Amino acid sequence: MAAQTEESDCAREQTKAEQDVDQVRQRATRDQQRLDSGAVTSPKDLANLQHEITSLAKRQGDLEDVVLEVMERRESAQERVNELTERVGSVQSRIDDATGRRDAAFEEIDRETASVTKEREVIAASVPADLLKLYDKLREQQGGIGAAKLYARTCQGCRQELAITELNEVRAAAPDTVVRCENCRRILVRTAESGL
Ligand SMILES: [Zn+2]
Repeated sequence: MAAQTEESDCAREQTKAEQDVDQVRQRATRDQQRLDSGAVTSPKDLANLQHEITSLAKRQGDLEDVVLEVMERRESAQERVNELTERVGSVQSRIDDATGRRDAAFEEIDRETASVTKEREVIAASVPADLLKLYDKLREQQGGIGAAKLYARTCQGCRQELAITELNEVRAAAPDTVVRCENCRRILVRTAESGL
C-alpha cells in the first residue's frame, strides 16, 4: 500500500512538473513568435524579449531535469510495487494452501467424530444404566476419563500402582463387580495384563 501510494504520488508530481515545462515552453514560443513577427522594434524591448527567451530556455531545462528526477523515482517505486505484489501473491498462495489443508483436516476430524459418536452410542446402550451414570459422573469429575485400564498393577488413569491390600481386594472381586481406583476413584477395567 505504501509503495503504491508513493508511486501514485510520483505520478501526480510528474504530471505537475510536465505541466510546468509546458507552460514555460508555450511562453517561450509566444515570445519567439513576437520576436519573429517584427512587431517589436524598440531596441530596449527587443533586448528584453531576447533576455526573457534565454531565461525561459534555462528555466525549461531546469524543469525538465525535475521531470526526469521524478520519473526515476516513479520507476523505482513501480519496481517496488511489482516486487511486493509478487511477494503478496506468493504469501497468499501459501495461505490458500494451508487453509486447504486445515479444511481437509477439519473434515477428517468431523468424520471421525461422527463415527466415534455412533460407536459410543452403540456401546453405551449395552452398559447398565446405573453403571453408565457412575461412569458419566466420574468422566465429568476426572477430566473426560471415567474408566481406566488396570495395567501391570497400575491404574492407567492416575498412573498410581495399587497398594498390596487394594490389589488383593481387586483379585478377590467377582468378574462383574465394578472395582475402582482408591486414588482417583475411576472405574478400573481388568484385563489379562492387569498383573493380578
Ligand atoms: Zn487411579
